[in-house]
Amino acid sequence: MKPLGLSLPAFGRLLASLERLPGVGPKSARRLAHHLLAAPPANVEELLEAVRSCRERTISCSICHALTEVDPCPICTDPARDMRLLAVVEAPSDVEVLERTREFRGRYHVLGGALSPLNGVGPDELYVSDLVERAGGVEEVILATNPNVEGEATALYLARRLKPLGIRVTRLGFGLPVGAAIEFADEVTLSRSLAGRREV
Ligand SMILES: [Zn+2]
Repeated sequence: MKPLGLSLPAFGRLLASLERLPGVGPKSARRLAHHLLAAPPANVEELLEAVRSCRERTISCSICHALTEVDPCPICTDPARDMRLLAVVEAPSDVEVLERTREFRGRYHVLGGALSPLNGVGPDELYVSDLVERAGGVEEVILATNPNVEGEATALYLARRLKPLGIRVTRLGFGLPVGAAIEFADEVTLSRSLAGRREV
C-alpha cells in the first residue's frame, strides 16, 4: 500500500523488512519505521550494532543445540546441573522459558523443530540421533515439545525410540493449553506442568 503522491522507496524497503518479523503486521511495521526515523541517530546505531553483534556472537551449543556464546554452553558444562535429567524441547527459545521457571535443574536437548511429514521434516531433519546417543547416560527424558499436533507426534515418536533403551520417558503434565506453544506459557503454568509430568 504505497501512499499516493509519495515516493519513499527506502521507507518502503524498511517497512517490508519489518513486516517479515514475527508478530509484526503492517500497522506495527509502520509505527516502528516512523519511530526509527524519528529516533536519535545514536539509538538507531545502538540497535543496529546490537543486532549485528548478537548475530556474530550467538552460536548453537554443539552438545544441546541451545543458543550460547561459548561452546559447550554454560548449562552443559555446569557440574551443579542434574545429569540424570534431560528436557527435550523444540526451539532454543524454549530453553529460556524453562530456565525462567527455576524449577528444572537438569540439562536440555534442542531438537531444532518438530516432526512434520507434510512439510518434509522427518527425524533426520532434527537433532534426533544425537539425542538418542545422549539419552544413553540419563535416567529420565522429559519431552517438553509443544502441546500441538506436531509436538505431540514428535513426543510419541521419541518415546518409542527412547523407551526400549530403558529410559524413563515423561511428558509435560496438564495445564498447558492444547495447541499453544511452550514459548508463550507463563512460568507458573510451566512449573506446574513440569511438576505434573506423566510417564508416556
Ligand atoms: Zn549445551
